[in-house]
Amino acid sequence: MAANQKLVVKNIGLLLSGDLDRPILDADTVVAVDGKISAVGRERELDLDGATAVVDANGTALSPGLIDSHVHPVAGDWTPRQNQMGWIDSSLHGGVTTMISAGEVHMPGRPRDIVGLKAMAIASQRWFQNMRPSGVKIHGGAPVIEKGMEEEDFRQLAEAGVTLLGEVGLGSVKAGDEAQRMVAWARKYGIQSTIHTGGPSVPGSGFIDKDVVLAADADIIGHINGGHTALPDVQIRCLCEGCKRAIEIVHNGNERSGLFALRTAIELNESYRVILGTDGPAGSGVQPLGILRMISMLSSLGDVPAERAFCFATGNTARMRKLDCGLIEVGKAADFVIMDRAQHSAGKTLLESVQLGDLPGIGMMIIDGVIRTERSRNTPPATTFPIILKNAPAAASGGH
Ligand SMILES: [Zn+2]
Repeated sequence: MAANQKLVVKNIGLLLSGDLDRPILDADTVVAVDGKISAVGRERELDLDGATAVVDANGTALSPGLIDSHVHPVAGDWTPRQNQMGWIDSSLHGGVTTMISAGEVHMPGRPRDIVGLKAMAIASQRWFQNMRPSGVKIHGGAPVIEKGMEEEDFRQLAEAGVTLLGEVGLGSVKAGDEAQRMVAWARKYGIQSTIHTGGPSVPGSGFIDKDVVLAADADIIGHINGGHTALPDVQIRCLCEGCKRAIEIVHNGNERSGLFALRTAIELNESYRVILGTDGPAGSGVQPLGILRMISMLSSLGDVPAERAFCFATGNTARMRKLDCGLIEVGKAADFVIMDRAQHSAGKTLLESVQLGDLPGIGMMIIDGVIRTERSRNTPPATTFPIILKNAPAAASGGH
């Protein structure tokens, strides 16, 4: 990130905060300096001098960039699962600015011996840190734990920069007590964990029921709605009631079960635990609009006001994942989606259109205070688009 970059986004018609406690902010302008939000307020009250980039939002909506809590990347912007290039760039066009790996499990010939899996995790962490496809932040390097791992292995992984475990249950560790021991070692060294929930996703994956999930006590109840085969509702309820861990609902899961998990979380007054992922790439393909589709599905069928549904994919995930983005707040990363109701939506406003089950039209994507795309090539076209008033060439834009 080059120094002295100042971005101003003004004339925002609807400012979504990402924060469930206050999902809509009474402000029309956001300022970011060197990639971080430096001020939020009314245009006339803020210091806009010296801006290197100015965007007129033209009365449209701005939200924190969406976070996909569950992806399976491999290397760069390539996925061997569906033999596809450019799926991360396509997801940027669907509003996603941050992705979290739940394991680089689609790597052909993935090593399952302990030294090999550690080496791959460390290498993955490095290659996604060193190269961000289209600027999207990929938190990668998530080893899938195998039988025989010792505390020392987790210490070494953490020391080498690994911060995540891939889905527990995709390797040979499938018993609750064994998983619990390794998850606790991971936590001791600051490594966050996700557990696979439900039936096997693809041949070679496993079945994990509620007893194993609760015993393992991973930080994230990965795809509580199955990936795609879900647990019975009674078990999903037990998972929601039996712990305080994140309730992750994914696009590539059982939609009915996802709605059941959402309603259970709301009933428990624990909506703050709901986070969203795609679980792509997967057998069902890649989902460039997967997170937007989840927001719209949960809002429309789950009767959640749209401004709250956006929080599931932004502030909630950021808090559960301890990320520096996902909220419109001074000091947070300047990762933004600028969007409006899609053309010809029956909804009269962006929020109403999402509550009716339509997708928004994206007009611009910004990561670390740098404009990455204008009109999305993947969403339906927005009714109104933001306008770039100034965009001085940046010396370096980070990540390319
Ligand atoms: Zn899974």
